[in-house]
Amino acid sequence: MSAREALFEHTGRDDIILPFQIDPYGLRGRLIRLGPVVDRILGRHDYPEAVAAMLGETMALAACLAGALKYDGIFTLQTKGDGPIGTLMADITSDGEMRAYARYDADRLAAVEPAAIAERSVPRLLGGGYIAFTVDQGANTDRYQGIVELEGRTLSECTHSYFRNSEQLEAGVLLAAGQAATADGPAWRAGALMIQRLPYQRDLPGRPSEDEYDENWRTAVTLMSSGTVAELLSAELPPDRLLFRLFHSEGVRAFQAQPVVDACRCSNSRVDRVLRALSVAELEELKQGEDVVVVCEFCKREWRYDDAALAALRDGEAAPSF
Ligand SMILES: [Zn+2]
Repeated sequence: MSAREALFEHTGRDDIILPFQIDPYGLRGRLIRLGPVVDRILGRHDYPEAVAAMLGETMALAACLAGALKYDGIFTLQTKGDGPIGTLMADITSDGEMRAYARYDADRLAAVEPAAIAERSVPRLLGGGYIAFTVDQGANTDRYQGIVELEGRTLSECTHSYFRNSEQLEAGVLLAAGQAATADGPAWRAGALMIQRLPYQRDLPGRPSEDEYDENWRTAVTLMSSGTVAELLSAELPPDRLLFRLFHSEGVRAFQAQPVVDACRCSNSRVDRVLRALSVAELEELKQGEDVVVVCEFCKREWRYDDAALAALRDGEAAPSF
């Protein structure tokens, strides 16, 4: 077994952020492969296909951009638009715990033509609006936020306008989400490939001139763009094979993959805190039958509070947990 096979033996080929570097092209990148994680998250919500596909791409993009940052906390990617899909939201912790949800208008979505859904059209599905990127590293740290208008036919194109406006980042990205064949039958999968240019150095292998270096980067962007949706979503094609196939390069070095897991951060204590802040009248309004029912928008987990539990909450008897 080669070292590379051993690597994937350990991490698996799915639900990973795989960092890599290609020295001859002067770039570093990340390949995102989301399998069971994205299928489980989307399966919980029973979204229409267009919403599931756009949210799948959002999860892949979040993993991709988070993988480019050094942070300790939560990376959040959120779109807000005036189209049929008003919100797409995905977040991922620095430990790889991911969750996501979408809000949409079913009637307006039903009027979107199939071709626009097939091409994951941002103008038709999300409309005008913005994408926000947030990094939250805890209570006493600054929140970093980037914002970009939804300008582009697809989420990849919108991300490119973010890269163009960012001074330090020369990068390209490819996104895909859809149902694909797996050993267990058709399942939702999502993938992303991002490359990022490294600063020119004189002593690179082959000692390229700066012009050659520029040319190499343009070649790499072209090669990346030749990647197909089927390749990004394939459950069969090993991630490192895909990289070799796209970049035709012996210089591809893949590093230790980071696993992505399906995990929500909702908890009893968080729900308690939210309910404690509400008035009795507001709580009455939340009642379904006898109980106040709270459903986590991310993972659909459900909490029920009967009158005794609500009284205990108001009296502060519920044990605080952190
Ligand atoms: Zn949850």
